Amino acid sequence: MFRSAAVKLTFWYLLIIMVLSIGCSLALYRISSNDIERIAKVQFSFLNSLLGPLDADNYLHLRQHQLSEDRQKLRANLIVFNIGVLVVGGITSYALARRTLRPIESALESQSRFAADASHELRTPLTVMQTENEVAMRNRNLSKEQAVALLKSNLEEVGKLKALSEGLLALAKTAKNEELMDEVALQKAIDEAIQRVSKVANAKKIKIISPKTNVKAKGNFEQIVQLLTILLDNAIKYSHDGSKVNLKAEKKERQAQITVEDSGKGISRSDLPRIFDRFYRADSSRSKNEASGYGLGLAIAKKIVDLHGGTIAAKSTPGKGSSFTVKLPQNNTYRG
Ligand code: ADP
Repeated sequence: MFRSAAVKLTFWYLLIIMVLSIGCSLALYRISSNDIERIAKVQFSFLNSLLGPLDADNYLHLRQHQLSEDRQKLRANLIVFNIGVLVVGGITSYALARRTLRPIESALESQSRFAADASHELRTPLTVMQTENEVAMRNRNLSKEQAVALLKSNLEEVGKLKALSEGLLALAKTAKNEELMDEVALQKAIDEAIQRVSKVANAKKIKIISPKTNVKAKGNFEQIVQLLTILLDNAIKYSHDGSKVNLKAEKKERQAQITVEDSGKGISRSDLPRIFDRFYRADSSRSKNEASGYGLGLAIAKKIVDLHGGTIAAKSTPGKGSSFTVKLPQNNTYRG
């Protein structure tokens, strides 16, 4: 599809170049042949006055011959020039067309990859539900306990689907310029995020240690809370029971710097560059279905940080823990 679009675009670019080149060549030809004729007339009258009256017929015949030779040469030069323009213009136009289409091509590619990944993730719980329900339907002596277990399993799958659709919605929502920008007191956002993860943290007896801060950042309160919640949630999810998670916010080089540190299982060197990709999960967390989500959390976090004109980076030592550092500008750079 993009190859034929590139060829079409090349054709249009080349058409514009050739119309301009041929137009200029015709104009040049006209001006030059008029000039040649004018110079010939000036030459004739000059020679006439210098050498006395000339044999006009003979002279004109000679000049006419020379003139047509000159014109022919000019025509040949212009044709060669235009062929050159056609070849060089064609190559340049194609390169330019490919370059113009590349960002569209990669955007479309990433969109279709996203759709494929999303439908793949949606299919898994749906297939589980379908299979379980079909097996249950075939069982004529389905007991009440079995029916309850089936409903429970169905509900679990529905929960997964709900979490997935919420993740997808969050990714789509952060792309729109809907939310307002404000000066956010990070302490308030941190309190809110800790509150949101407190249930899971308590269940794993994980303590969140966060010194008080008065640092502020420009951004959207709800999105910053969501960002902190994702980082805290991951730190808890991938940490051992009874461990500690550190969260601190400080001012560094006129930026608000937030660090979330855990002493959990860590991330391998090969996974580290890809954890912010949509739907990416490290293999070990993929197998542990309970702990893993859909690999959307960090993609959403990265999107939020990008919208705020900030940066997010991860460091990790497998087996020892991970640390995520977010830098948010304190001035007006929100790009929602
Ligand atoms: P998920 O929903 O699977 O947690 P995320 O996008 O939040 O998806 O994270 C992507 C992957 O990065 C996770 O599957 C996990 O392997 C890894 N990861 C993220 N945070 C941590 C962490 N604090 N400790 C260890 N691994 C982590």
